[in-house]
Amino acid sequence: MHCTECGNPSLVEGELIHSDGDKTKFSPTGDPKLKRTLGMGGRPVRAYGCPRCGRLQFSVEFNEEDLKKYQSFEGEQQRSAVEQEGND
Ligand SMILES: [Zn+2]
Repeated sequence: MHCTECGNPSLVEGELIHSDGDKTKFSPTGDPKLKRTLGMGGRPVRAYGCPRCGRLQFSVEFNEEDLKKYQSFEGEQQRSAVEQEGND
């Protein structure tokens, strides 16, 4: 991963840790179905800090199972959109 601000390829990897020791997790908001699909317990968040300019970037640790679930969720969304168009 490169810094999106200054292009520095050497970012410092870390985590966001609260003062009580809890780590920040990612949980989707919005569609309740997607929330149920991917929100179970939240997913770990990785942070990458740029020592040159101070920019902080994040990534989420989704696993393969999450990707499969998301793809089937996406497929369902597309199917129901097509069905709704057919009903007009
Ligand atoms: Zn930078």
